[in-house]
Amino acid sequence: MRSACVIGHPVSHSLSPRLHGYWLRHYGIDGSYTAHDVPPENLAGFIKKFPQQFIGGNVTIPHKEMVMRLLDEVDDIARAIGAVNTLIVTRDGKLRGINTDAYGFMQNIKTHVPQGLRKNRAVVLGAGGAARAVVKALLDEGFAEICITNRTREKAETLASVFGNKISAADWQERSALLAGADLLVNTTSLGLAGGAPLGIELAALPGHAVVADIVYRPLITPLLASAQAAGYATVDGLGMLIHQAAAGFEAWFGRKPEVTQELRDYLLA
Ligand code: NAP
Repeated sequence: MRSACVIGHPVSHSLSPRLHGYWLRHYGIDGSYTAHDVPPENLAGFIKKFPQQFIGGNVTIPHKEMVMRLLDEVDDIARAIGAVNTLIVTRDGKLRGINTDAYGFMQNIKTHVPQGLRKNRAVVLGAGGAARAVVKALLDEGFAEICITNRTREKAETLASVFGNKISAADWQERSALLAGADLLVNTTSLGLAGGAPLGIELAALPGHAVVADIVYRPLITPLLASAQAAGYATVDGLGMLIHQAAAGFEAWFGRKPEVTQELRDYLLA
């Protein structure tokens, strides 16, 4: 049996075992996907033995950056993002790290916006780990201008300096005004999470054709998406990003490109 896993600390909240378990059953693959709570002090030891036990896996908080130093290879996209979320054991037993979050984000947008995006200006809220993947995806997709605004402005400025001159940084207080002329608004902050603080943004300046995306998926329809829908904007929820980034890993490990279906979304939300 081929085994894959997710490692994190904590890891009990992860939807990945449910997601990959669904695909393994659906395609009748003789494989397993398990969750392992690995505290930071045990990460190096766990990774050393990884190729003997697993064909691959996912890495989640807090290990996505730290794990990079422990791998034999890290691909260019993961290096650009500065984090690894997927591990692959290669045929010669080496451990390779990739990052499928940027792919997952953009694949989700493309699925939900089949008419295509205008790509002049995007506004990204937040400058944490997920924002790096989103900014990389938007750059690769050809956005002309990406404005990042973050509560801690220096982190937005760091992202802008890492990713080049198409990126600008702005004060968090300006977030509503920045929406003028934007084709896409993406929330990558944790604001809007169930039980957490609200985001607080005024959409009036956002052009009517713009798409509003939230990568938070608990709740599926965040207050940002609810107010965008009420104002008539096209919206994209965050669950698809999770599923599409997982699909890329599943294909790499088990050799089958899994489908992203409504039935799967319903199963994950149940
Ligand atoms: P992170 O690195 O901890 O970044 C958190 C971000 O939220 C930072 O920009 C932070 O600003 C901002 N923030 C937190 N509290 C805030 C507040 N009270 N006011 C203003 N800004 C605040 O986390 P992450 O890994 O980027 O993840 C962010 C969210 O995306 C999480 O909810 C996560 O579950 C979700 N996510 C979803 C997917 C998916 O597949 N759909 C993938 C990855 C992440 P500061 O820099 O000022 O602290």
